[in-house]
Amino acid sequence: MDILIDKTVCIGAGQCALTAPDVFTQDDDGFSELLPGREDGAGSPLVREAARACPVSAIKVAP
Ligand code: SF4
Repeated sequence: MDILIDKTVCIGAGQCALTAPDVFTQDDDGFSELLPGREDGAGSPLVREAARACPVSAIKVAP
C-alpha cells in the first residue's frame, strides 16, 4: 500500500505513532514520518486505523 503524510496538514498530535508504532514515528519537530523501511506499511493492519485516528486527516492510504 502507499502511505502519504501531508506535513502541511499534520499538527503533530501523535495519534498515528500511538496507533501504529511499527510504521509511524515523529520527527524532531513532532510531525509524523514513516519509519525507515516501513514506507509501504506492509503487514501492519493498524495503518488504516492510524489514518482514521488522525484528527486532521493528514494520512492517506492507497489502495
Ligand atoms: S495523527 Fe495526524 S496530526 Fe497527529 S502526528 Fe499523525 S499525521 Fe500528524
